[in-house]
Amino acid sequence: MGSLPVSEKPHALCIPYPAQGHINPMLKLAKLLHFRGFHITFVNTEFNHKRLLKSRGPTSLDGLPSFRFETIPDGLPVSDFDATQDIPSLCESTRRTCLPPFRDLLHQLNTSSDVPPVTCIVSDGVMSFTLDAAHELGIPEVIFWTTSACGFLCYVHYRHLIEKGLTPLKDPSYLTDGYLDTVIDWIPGIKEIRLRDIPTFIRTTNPDEFMLDFVTGECARAQRASAIILNTFDALEHDVLEGLSSILPPVYSIGPLNLLINDVTDKDLKSIGSNLWKEETECLEWLDTKEPNSVVYVNFGSITVMTNKQLIEFAWGLANSNQTFLWVIRPDLVGGDNAVLPAEFVQETKNRGRLYSWCPQEQVLAHPAIGGFLTHSGWNSTLESMCGGVVMVCWPFFAEQQTNCRFSCKEWGIGLEIDSDVTMEGVERLVTELMEGEKGKEMKKKALEWKKMAQEAASEGAGSSFRNLETVVQRVLLAGT
Ligand code: UDP
Repeated sequence: MGSLPVSEKPHALCIPYPAQGHINPMLKLAKLLHFRGFHITFVNTEFNHKRLLKSRGPTSLDGLPSFRFETIPDGLPVSDFDATQDIPSLCESTRRTCLPPFRDLLHQLNTSSDVPPVTCIVSDGVMSFTLDAAHELGIPEVIFWTTSACGFLCYVHYRHLIEKGLTPLKDPSYLTDGYLDTVIDWIPGIKEIRLRDIPTFIRTTNPDEFMLDFVTGECARAQRASAIILNTFDALEHDVLEGLSSILPPVYSIGPLNLLINDVTDKDLKSIGSNLWKEETECLEWLDTKEPNSVVYVNFGSITVMTNKQLIEFAWGLANSNQTFLWVIRPDLVGGDNAVLPAEFVQETKNRGRLYSWCPQEQVLAHPAIGGFLTHSGWNSTLESMCGGVVMVCWPFFAEQQTNCRFSCKEWGIGLEIDSDVTMEGVERLVTELMEGEKGKEMKKKALEWKKMAQEAASEGAGSSFRNLETVVQRVLLAGT
C-alpha cells in the first residue's frame, strides 16, 4: 500500500481529545496507521498546537508529506499557555462548538488536490461529535477510548447506576458515611467493585452534574461507531473486554501502543512527539548513574492538582523513606499557587533526590534504575509502568484512575493503594514496602510477568493486539476505500 499514488491512498483523520493522556496514544496509533500505508491528518486544537510548538520547537509540527497536522478551535477563551485546561469546561466546549469547524476541515481536505480524500476517521471516545460528520460523508469511524477497559466498562454502566438510583447521591453525607463501600456485583465482566472504585463523576449530589451527563452521553453515542478500540491487551482485561463486547459495536484491544510502536522505525516519524511541556531529558543521564531498581519515580501526570499540604506530606514521606527518588513536579501541580517545598526537605534529600518539571516518562519507566513508581494511576502511566515491569504506589486523583488503582492492586497484583487523605507516615510506609518489603518483591515478580505478557500481545505477527490492529485496519478502516 505504501507505494500507491497519493490520490489513491487511504486517508485516516485522527482526532484526539485535547489533553496529554489522549494525544499521546492517538499519535502512536496514527504513526502505526501511517506505517501501514495511510495518509494521516492529525487534528489538534489551536491551543495545543501552539503549546506543542512552544515545547518542541517551531518545526516540530511540520510533519511529513503524508503525515500532516491540522487544527480546529476548542471554543474556550484563550488561557494560560503553561497550564492544564479545565476538563469539564473543555468537554462542554468541544461538545458544543467543535462540529462546525470539524466539518469545514473535512470539506477543505476533501476539496484539496494535495491530499487524498478522507476515507475514515479515528476519533477519541469523548469527541463523539465527529460521528455526525462521518455519517454525513458515509465513511467508517473508529472510536478510541484511551481509558482502561475496566474504566470504560464502568462508564458504560453509568446509566444503570443512575437508573438504580445509586447516583446522584441523596446528600453529601453519602460521601463519608461508608456508602461508597457499597459493592456492585451486577456488571458483567467485573465480579465485584465498590462504588468508590467506579470513576469519580458519580460522587455528586447534583442531578444535573455535567460530567455524569457528558460521559453517559458519550458512551451511548459509541453505539454508532463502526468499531471501538482500547489501549489494553486481552490477557490483562479479558473478562472486562468480553463484558464490553456483549453490549457495544465490535471492541478491539490494540495495546500497549507504547510497545506496538516499536515496529515503526522511520526516523522522521519517530521524531514527531506530543509532549505539551518541555521534556528535561537530563534526568536520564542521572538515572544512568544509579543501580538497577534503586530509584523511586514520582509523577502525578498532566491533570492532577493537589494542595501544598499534600505536596509536603509526599515530600517528607519520601525523605523519611530514605529512598533515592526522581520527582516530577509539574508547574501547575499545586492548585492556586506554585509548589513550595520546605528548604529543609531540599537540603536533606539533595544527595539522593532530583526534582524536574516534566520528563520523558516512557523512557524513565523503561530505565533499569527505576524500582518503583508513585503514581496517580492514569491509564497511560499504568500501562507504561507495566511495560517497564515497575511496581506502583497508587494515589488516584479522579475519573477512572480509581478503577485503574483498584485493578492494579487487587486484580493484577502490582500496586499498593495509598489513602486519599495522604500522610507522610503512609507515604514512608508504602514506599519502603514497595522498594524493600516482601510484598514489594512478590509484586515485582507479578509485574515482570505482566511485562512479558504485554510484549507477547504486541509482538509482530502473532500477538493478540498486533492481530487486532490488523483486523481493524482491514475490516473497518479500509472498508470505505
Ligand atoms: N508524561 C510525560 N512526562 C511527564 C508526565 C507525564 O511524558 O513528566 C506522559 C506520560 O508518559 C503519559 C501521559 O503523559 O503518557 C499522561 O497520561 P496518563 O493517562 O498517565 O495521565 P493524565 O495526564 O491523563 O492524568
